[in-house]
Amino acid sequence: MKTENLGYSQSDIEKAVSILRLGGLVAIPTETVYGLAADATNDEAVSKIFKAKGRPAFNPLIIHVKNIKMAQQYVQWNEAAEILTKKFWPGPLTIVLPSTKNSQIAETARANLPSVAIRMPSHPVALEILRQFNRPLAAPSANLSGKISSTSIDHVLKNLNQKIDAIVDGGNSTVGVESTIVTLTRVPTILRTGFITPEAVSNALGAKIANYDNEGPIIAPGQLKSHYAPKAKLRLDAIDWKQGEKKLGFGDVECDMNLSKGKSLTEAAQNLFNFLHILDSSNPRTISVSPIPNEGIGLAINDRLKRASIQE
Ligand code: AMP
Ligand code: MG
Repeated sequence: MKTENLGYSQSDIEKAVSILRLGGLVAIPTETVYGLAADATNDEAVSKIFKAKGRPAFNPLIIHVKNIKMAQQYVQWNEAAEILTKKFWPGPLTIVLPSTKNSQIAETARANLPSVAIRMPSHPVALEILRQFNRPLAAPSANLSGKISSTSIDHVLKNLNQKIDAIVDGGNSTVGVESTIVTLTRVPTILRTGFITPEAVSNALGAKIANYDNEGPIIAPGQLKSHYAPKAKLRLDAIDWKQGEKKLGFGDVECDMNLSKGKSLTEAAQNLFNFLHILDSSNPRTISVSPIPNEGIGLAINDRLKRASIQE
């Protein structure tokens, strides 16, 4: 299949929407990372996402909506959802809630779970597509399952060229790491760290928030240990550099690429996947990475690096 390269003019967006209406796959820009979108109410279309990515069927997808009202059609709203969405939507926060009884979301999209993960993105192009489509979109990250996520169309094409119907170029993703996921089906618990910190979520709720840790029982199916992986091995917390390694630095260090010379964690998150793509493309055996402070958005960066360092 030929993958059509679209921009974000009105006619390009109309084209993308018409492909989605026909049950096709379109990679779309979001502020976190590029998403591989399909009509979330169309079982066959959703199945194509799993096939194109090589994603295991047990790993549910995040459902993207144009506003809070649309979300309320598909999930059972509660007070915590009200507070968090008022504060953080549109933006990089995904909430998990029980599905409504007659929800039209395809079972494949939620991997047959009784709950749904849902978010309203803030990227203007994603929002415009959602408004015109006027239905929810299932959209995991636009990369092969387990591989480095995509923050630009180059990354998407490297993974998915000729496997999807179209790609909409909306520039580089500004956040750079996936959304924070918090489940509200139980005591609010962070399932995945992201740009919105556990602290910010707990401050908004006025309550302590539990943190899912990988040693505990699995409460979210897709929490795969190995994820975001380059071909190279990753050596984390490197305080010295070894010969032959590619060096991904942070702060005032000599290296091949620097996530943020000025030690900005926001800048480091923006650069993370792009720099991993670039360093990995010269096929080094190892990429070594400077220590990243484990606070704020650094929690999300370290989570991604740790999973990326685990080889399947
Ligand atoms: P992504 O791979 O970025 O699309 O993120 C999808 C992730 O959201 C999954 O791997 C799960 O960890 C989480 N998720 C999606 N749906 C649910 C759900 N119903 N319950 C718990 N976690 C979910
Ligand atoms: Mg992903």
